[in-house]
Amino acid sequence: MKDLHGRTIDYMRISITDRCNLRCKYCMPQDISQVPMNEILTYEEIADVCREAVKLGIRKFKITGGEPLVRKECTSLIRKIKEIPEVEQVTMTTNGILLEAHLEALLLAGLDAVNVSLDTLDEKRYEEITGFTGLRSVLSAINAALDRGLRVKVNAVLQPGVNDEEWNRLLGLAKKRNLDVRFIEMMPIGAGKQYRTVSNEKLLQKMKMVYPDIQKDERIHGNGPAVYYRIPGFQGSIGFISAIHGVFCDRCNRIRMTATGELKPCLCYGDTVSVKKVLREGNSDDVRALIEQAVLGKPKMHCFAQRPGITEYKNMVQIGG
Ligand code: SAM
Ligand code: SF4
Repeated sequence: MKDLHGRTIDYMRISITDRCNLRCKYCMPQDISQVPMNEILTYEEIADVCREAVKLGIRKFKITGGEPLVRKECTSLIRKIKEIPEVEQVTMTTNGILLEAHLEALLLAGLDAVNVSLDTLDEKRYEEITGFTGLRSVLSAINAALDRGLRVKVNAVLQPGVNDEEWNRLLGLAKKRNLDVRFIEMMPIGAGKQYRTVSNEKLLQKMKMVYPDIQKDERIHGNGPAVYYRIPGFQGSIGFISAIHGVFCDRCNRIRMTATGELKPCLCYGDTVSVKKVLREGNSDDVRALIEQAVLGKPKMHCFAQRPGITEYKNMVQIGG
């Protein structure tokens, strides 16, 4: 369906858990409390929401978290959503730690693509950023997923003085294999507020110095606001998700649902529409009306650049990114 600003909303990001097996500092502070399991939507409830969402024209779903693969049998949810005839695509965003162990089940369930979050290729730095070791498992999972024919995007958040000098090394992944490497600007959400952003605009300038032949890639790579470039000789493309330095709100196509069933019209604002109560009372028409309300409640733009306007106080791990 269209929102009040003329944008077609056909994509929903669904967080299925606020738990995670990593502790990326900008996303999940150590002392964060977790919601009790009975507050979290069951897979059947999530599938009910998807069944109503498709009636409003939502066709693509992204499963996120927390870390979606820490929730038991999350492949069964993917299967349930894939069984809805109107659904065109179900994809997942993961930190990749458990990806290889679940890969065959995910493929069997019909997963269409996977985004793997990976900020560094340095073992020690990986531990500094995420609080855990595990880089090798992530790299192995990326290769395994590609070998099995799954589309892969690697998402990296660069931080000044931490991993910003690693951009060229990260690009090496797209040189060697047919995957997209995308740079996401740090957003001032939750713990992310305490971290500085690397401007994608400046990053592209640096890339142009090293790769003067880099050129815009106009092909559609997915559902999102990323802008893509190609470097001759590279198998994959380079993407930029520039939430701060390249406002993309005119192309916004999404709503989000948190693990507790809060529909979020925009990442930047705390306003939500809860579907949990009506879901649990079992009235599907009401669920649809609430999704419609959330879509119609989408603001024209986020205000990440004017921080006092931000009214979302949760951490990204509680939202889903
Ligand atoms: N655990 C999964 C993962 O890491 O991909 C899914 C959830 S995680 C919240 C989704 C994405 O949000 C990750 O790529 C992460 O790097 C990104 N993220 C978390 N906090 C962020 C922030 N403040 N600004 C920009 N991206 C952020
Ligand atoms: Fe967990 Fe993903 Fe957040 Fe890292 S970015 S703490 S892996 S939810």
